[in-house]
Amino acid sequence: MSQTISQDNVVGIHYTVKTGEGQVLDQSKEGQPLQFIFGRGMLIKGLEDALAGKSEGDKFVAEIDPADAYGERQEGLIQTVPRSLFGDSEVAPGMQFRASTDQGEQSVMIVDVNDDEVTVDGNHPLAGVPLKFDVEVVEVREATASELDHGHVHNEGDDHA
Ligand SMILES: [Zn+2]
Repeated sequence: MSQTISQDNVVGIHYTVKTGEGQVLDQSKEGQPLQFIFGRGMLIKGLEDALAGKSEGDKFVAEIDPADAYGERQEGLIQTVPRSLFGDSEVAPGMQFRASTDQGEQSVMIVDVNDDEVTVDGNHPLAGVPLKFDVEVVEVREATASELDHGHVHNEGDDHA
């Protein structure tokens, strides 16, 4: 009997993630599955939900709504600020920077610039985007005590205290 994925298992997957419209966003590398400890929020919620109960060798497609991925877009995170706030720094659409906000440090992107004002968007670039994962489960095993202690996966040859 193969083990089914449950809390604190070490899981390895190969995956390709696309937008709902089919644009490939990311994928695991050949021979290098993504490994993680299951059930600790290391993956987006929708993907963890889809993996629960699967076992090694399973292949499946998971279509995930934005709410279970990077969240819905929030118009309130788009703000217009005075150009003067940036001093002499170059500002152009597409530039990203870290900013302190009410919700803490956040990555924001400049979406529009004119002589007086700069419009910035604090939404995650994938907010509001439905995702589609092609997944193959390649490893499921109990985590070792030191993996649970460290909160990450150890592979053969990993040798740290
Ligand atoms: Zn470690």
